[in-house]
Amino acid sequence: PVEAVPQAPEDPLFGLMRAYKADESPNKVDLGIGAYRDDNAKPWVLPVVKKADEILRNDPDLNHEYLPIAGLASFTSKAGELLLGTGSAAAAEKRVSSVQTISGTGAVHLGALFLAKFYKVNGANRTVYLSSPTWANHNQIFTNVGLPIATYPYFDKETKGLAFEGMKKALADAPERSIILLHACAHNPTGVDPTAEQWREIAEVIKAKKHFPFFDCAYQGFASGDLDRDAGAIRYFIEQGFELVIAQSFAKNFGLYGERAGCFHFVAAPSADAASITTRVASQLAILQRSEISNPPIYGAKIASTVLNDKALFAEWQENLRTMSGRIITMRTALRAKLEELRTPGQWNHITEQIGMFSFTGLSEAQVAKLRSEFHVYMTKNGRISMAGLNTRNVEYFAKAVDSVVRE
Ligand code: PMP
Repeated sequence: PVEAVPQAPEDPLFGLMRAYKADESPNKVDLGIGAYRDDNAKPWVLPVVKKADEILRNDPDLNHEYLPIAGLASFTSKAGELLLGTGSAAAAEKRVSSVQTISGTGAVHLGALFLAKFYKVNGANRTVYLSSPTWANHNQIFTNVGLPIATYPYFDKETKGLAFEGMKKALADAPERSIILLHACAHNPTGVDPTAEQWREIAEVIKAKKHFPFFDCAYQGFASGDLDRDAGAIRYFIEQGFELVIAQSFAKNFGLYGERAGCFHFVAAPSADAASITTRVASQLAILQRSEISNPPIYGAKIASTVLNDKALFAEWQENLRTMSGRIITMRTALRAKLEELRTPGQWNHITEQIGMFSFTGLSEAQVAKLRSEFHVYMTKNGRISMAGLNTRNVEYFAKAVDSVVRE
């Protein structure tokens, strides 16, 4: 009976957010959740999103009708183009099937559910290999649909960079046709991405073992400020002829966190049968979507679609992306400079070498706890900081706090 249900722990990240809100110290610093903040530590509505919002609100035909099961077509097609690039052979050959989802989380979930149901060898599900560490929700999402999970090494604690050899070896040792989850760019939580050359070698191993790549793309445009560059790994894999899937989020790059705008894309390998496979996949995705959410939310998708389908707004969006990624890079430089100026014990080059929303500082769980209790600094206990939580006002305070706990 349901009375026997055990109490579950609070989600660590949302628990952290709650504790931060309750803290009354004027010095408090929120480096927990991965949401962009401006230099005043406030949420930033992208100017281009404000414009799109106004266009939509002034449209006399705006209504709140249902979207089709697969979502807003003007949104999903442009979302696919953003990942694959214009003139993609996969798109021209009708090898891409796209479904609008509940942001990136919903896309990972839909992909997981689809693979749990249809990706089998001799009737059995395949294991999903996740990077160690990874976004904590990956574990829950894949476990919830009954897929077995395993990990591959990713972060080298010594160099605070990529554990490249270990990663390749684990992928080579994994049983054939495993599912390999890859962060397309701006790896969460480490901020460490493979180089283009390393991606080539990773693709080679994955191809040799006939693995199935599952890209999670939650930060396109956030890593380098360049949408095409951040899609480089995905495009390379598609060029190599992989059958693969992509979970795409517009939470961070449009600042549409709560609007839940995202997409799931299936890309078939080039073959005579590819268009037919794609059509069949689309039909099954529609069934899964119908039973799960019936149809996706409309407003965020309309905002993104308005921007993605208008040349001038698109250019302005790229400008807004550069503002966000630029401010984050400035904060990386400032934090590293402060720590080096203070001669804080340890090496801090990784702060500027890591990219995207997060930095894996290397601070221990005990140091993280002290930062919270003594300095009102909130970050996840694995030592990850959301760089967007730093600004010109608090970066020195944070550096001094780190300096203090490192020396204790
Ligand atoms: N994947 C990764 C790696 C993420 O970091 C996030 C956001 N924290 C997501 C997916 C999904 O986020 P959302 O559902 O808000 O789009």
